[in-house]
Amino acid sequence: MATNRYQTILLFGAPGAGKGTQGKILGSIPGFYHLSCGEVFRTLDTTSDLGRVFMEYSSRGELVPDDVTVKMWQQNMHAQTVLSRFKPHSDVLVLDGIPRNVSQAKLLEKHLDVLLIVHLICSDKERMIQRLRRRALKENRADDAREEVIRRRWEVYERETFPVLAHYPKSIIRDVDAVGSPGRVLQHILEQVVPVQESHFNNPVTGEPETPEKR
Ligand code: ADP
Repeated sequence: MATNRYQTILLFGAPGAGKGTQGKILGSIPGFYHLSCGEVFRTLDTTSDLGRVFMEYSSRGELVPDDVTVKMWQQNMHAQTVLSRFKPHSDVLVLDGIPRNVSQAKLLEKHLDVLLIVHLICSDKERMIQRLRRRALKENRADDAREEVIRRRWEVYERETFPVLAHYPKSIIRDVDAVGSPGRVLQHILEQVVPVQESHFNNPVTGEPETPEKR
């Protein structure tokens, strides 16, 4: 039933489009909960079995196998819910980095009610590759330290991830230009996501009096 699924907004876009940066900001707004699949993978202990699997694939720029990914995602969502960090009845879930191929989108269908997809678009591929290289130096990311791996990540995006868009109705997809200052990109994302969040949740944090019917 739709009510058992997480009300979700997907942040979608190529590597380097800024999903993580924007997702983190969105996640700091009451009523939004952000979860980055790549972030969850990176917090794993690299000596654990799952951590080793992640390193094996990500260091080549490949996707981690779907069953492992979805299982880990589910466990993480469960943990965040139990800890009350994510409150499914009052927060919209902002996912970045998952689903990353059509098979993951299908596996997640029973868990997600996808309300909106924000598609961050950057037509300048070389500019995004530059961003990734700079970030790799700053954040010590093994996957983006080598140009060859970055290019592989792009190939995987074009071949496996981009087709995910076609899996969802066009009416819920919003294209947002990923080029510009983070503040400007954020402004454009907010224009899309705020009305969706407001229409699905009542927002007690705004201090608005409850309508008599709800009392
Ligand atoms: P970026 O946001 O820079 O594109 P991520 O941090 O999302 O990259 O992902 C880094 C790596 O983690 C990926 O290259 C992949 O190996 C692994 N990964 C992250 N999310 C998924 C996923 N949904 N399915 C499979 N692998 C994933």
